[in-house]
Amino acid sequence: MAMKVANMAMEIMGTYGYTKDSPIEKVWRDARILSIYEGTNQIQRLVISGGLLR
Ligand SMILES: Cc1cc2nc3c(=O)[nH]c(=O)nc-3n(C[C@H](O)[C@H](O)[C@H](O)COP(=O)(O)OP(=O)(O)OC[C@H]3O[C@@H](n4cnc5c(N)ncnc54)[C@H](O)[C@@H]3O)c2cc1C
Repeated sequence: MAMKVANMAMEIMGTYGYTKDSPIEKVWRDARILSIYEGTNQIQRLVISGGLLR
């Protein structure tokens, strides 16, 4: 949901949203990192599928 909202905000702001002057740039990066740190989405899928197949 965070990524979806950040993407929409970036879309509304256009090129300005992508620049460091815009607060959306930081919001977008913070949303994107959620699927990477503390384990990526791909690794989480491996862990879940491993548990289901056990
Ligand atoms: C801002 C930030 C803060 C962080 N804070 C912490 C912290 O406080 N404590 C801590 O311990 N770590 C922290 N990390 C590290 C974080 O947990 C790792 O970045 C994360 O686990 C991904 O590991 P990696 O970067 O080595 O990517 P890699 O393991 O090199 O993975 C690279 C890509 O390959 C994919 N991939 C790798 N192996 C497989 C596979 N077998 N099958 C399918 N796809 C695969 C991954 O999903 C990913 O997309 C932080 C990282 C960031 C960016």
